[in-house]
Amino acid sequence: VSRFEGVTMAPPDPILGVSEAFKADTDEKKLNLGVGAYRTEELQPYVLDVVKKAENLMLERGENKEYLPIEGLAAFNKVTAELLFGADNSVLKEQRVATVQGLSGTGSLRLAAALIERYFPGAKVLISSPTWGNHKNIFNDARVPWSEYRYYDPKTVGLDFEGMIADIKAAPGGSFILLHGCAHNPTGIDPTPEQWEKIADVIQEKNHIPFFDVAYQGFASGSLDNDASSVRLFATRGMELLVAQSYSKNLGLYAERIGAMNVVCSSSDLAARVKSQLKRLARPMYSNPPVHGARIVANVVGNPALFDEWKAEMEMMAGRIKNVRQKLFDSLSAKDKSGKDWSFILRQIGMFSFTGLNKAQSDNMTNKWHVYMTKDGRISLAGLSLAKCEYLADAIIDSYH
Ligand code: PLP
Repeated sequence: VSRFEGVTMAPPDPILGVSEAFKADTDEKKLNLGVGAYRTEELQPYVLDVVKKAENLMLERGENKEYLPIEGLAAFNKVTAELLFGADNSVLKEQRVATVQGLSGTGSLRLAAALIERYFPGAKVLISSPTWGNHKNIFNDARVPWSEYRYYDPKTVGLDFEGMIADIKAAPGGSFILLHGCAHNPTGIDPTPEQWEKIADVIQEKNHIPFFDVAYQGFASGSLDNDASSVRLFATRGMELLVAQSYSKNLGLYAERIGAMNVVCSSSDLAARVKSQLKRLARPMYSNPPVHGARIVANVVGNPALFDEWKAEMEMMAGRIKNVRQKLFDSLSAKDKSGKDWSFILRQIGMFSFTGLNKAQSDNMTNKWHVYMTKDGRISLAGLSLAKCEYLADAIIDSYH
């Protein structure tokens, strides 16, 4: 008899499981709008030209494969913090940021969760309702208690700003407030600059600690600076904060697992102490991070020609998604005779659109139309082409009514 008899079958992952189901479907019309990965108009995966150029440079230099330090590649850590805060930000000049290379966004979040578990016992993390599904897994596995704050208002398919503020106010003082830096996943709904100010006010009043998840810098608006404005607003106020970064989307480095955890502290001494503890947490978990993606980022950002090319490619990707968003809206508005207002689609930002389809309707999208998507009604516009917008609009209208 096996020693593993007590192990039950785990359910498929709600996001990555969608790709598995998509692969198994043999219908020609099938469309994978589940996972957030950028595709070309031909629906093919895309490797950025700047990434290939950086990899060529790396090959020519004949770089070795020795271990990185626990905190990662120094050249990467420098540029990643500069991209996030802006090179002339006082938090960097005053050396108040502890930056550690992480295993992309997920690994960086997990490392921060371990820091919270160790140094803030009992402190709660507040996450938006809804949020990216993996946030709950990350805090559960790190044994960090969490609860939700209101975010999405189904009536307006917009932000429930009053609810959000009330729930952040009601949280026990000193809680961590998880915020999506830009392009909120799954809703595509971001606070306005005025609303960000108000959110910062309440967080300061309550002595909470803001914890940003930045998975789409440059990918949402096409501008690295615009997409970092929420984080910079908080840093400029002199607040202490946590920021997880990912290069999965904006550099298309999904499988390289490259990102970083940044902790802004009120002094350089504290930042050094926090960094030493982040290293101590990382060492028994994964020892040290992978080098390849870190070198790509350091080469792209550190080379002015490649950096400019990257920005152009990011604008191209963000632009393609915006075009698809517009076409989907146009198709829905033209085809739907019910008088429903679809303009919420145009107000959303980033790679996703939150359609408002419920679970049964999302099931109809998949079962009848072979459109694969998460059951919360989210579709990835990055996996959609202009050519498929009409078909998708038919599927959505059929599923809604
Ligand atoms: N955070 C959010 C909100 C995301 O949407 C994602 C990716 O979909 C991530 C973090 C992390 O992704 P990765 O671990 O690939 O960087």
